[in-house]
Amino acid sequence: MKRLHGRSAYVTGGSRGIGKAIARAMASEGAKVCVADLQQQSLLELEQEFKQQGWDLFTFQVDVTDRQQVEQSISTAVEVMGSLDILVNNAGIIRDNLFYKMEDNDWDKVMDVHLKGAFYCSRAAQAYMVKQRFGRIINLSSVSALGNRGQANYSAAKAGLQGLTKTLAIELGSYGITVNAIGPGFIETDMTRATAERLGMSFEELIAFKTKEIPAGRTGKPEDIANAVLFFAEDASSFINGQVLYVSGGPAV
Ligand code: NAD
Repeated sequence: MKRLHGRSAYVTGGSRGIGKAIARAMASEGAKVCVADLQQQSLLELEQEFKQQGWDLFTFQVDVTDRQQVEQSISTAVEVMGSLDILVNNAGIIRDNLFYKMEDNDWDKVMDVHLKGAFYCSRAAQAYMVKQRFGRIINLSSVSALGNRGQANYSAAKAGLQGLTKTLAIELGSYGITVNAIGPGFIETDMTRATAERLGMSFEELIAFKTKEIPAGRTGKPEDIANAVLFFAEDASSFINGQVLYVSGGPAV
């Protein structure tokens, strides 16, 4: 039997990059999937792809920082899928700058998308998960939670997500809900492509540079993270709760 047979999932920021790989992996393992993202065009393309594969997909154009949009789409997701078993808080942005140059808006935006977004989505989802006595909440943190030059806002938000993860694990554990986080290292997506641009390098140069620091001898692919998400999501992981799994090709990278 497929690993997520009969399960239903809601993935934020799933129209590209890591979130898209998560949505694909979940669907290929038998789950019904909802993807919520800002980007309408990418959502339409994803719908086409899933249709060709014969997978169930429902998409919502949602800004995770908007409480009404989040609550409305999660309620509709439950209606169309029949339940909500797995929430993946993946939507994210970067607004990197050295701390002394960081502006209020760069701080607020990053906090809002990562922290407030995960707060709104988790609060809305847990209401359904508690009733059904089953749930999996998986938060996308980062190795940057441990500190990273030029990312004071992002590091603080990703460390905050780890605190949220552990507290929700404590509060929701007795309802059959597990809450865990994944801390990716360098993963090849549009987000890291933008970092290369900011640093004035080509993406290939940045990948070559990063590869030298990574014990596994390569940079990560979105599928590497999707694999870890599947692990936390499956029924057999019911005793793994409140954990942060760094998926970065080796320690401290
Ligand atoms: P990405 O930029 O390729 O994709 C992010 C997605 O989130 C996009 O589809 C975007 O439209 C969506 N999004 C942004 N703001 C949103 C909002 N307000 N509401 C709804 N959707 C929104 O990024 P990625 O590399 O795929 O990263 C996915 C997650 O993994 C993020 O949380 C990121 O911080 C985290 N992460 C990425 C890396 C990496 O190396 N790529 C490393 C560590 C952690």
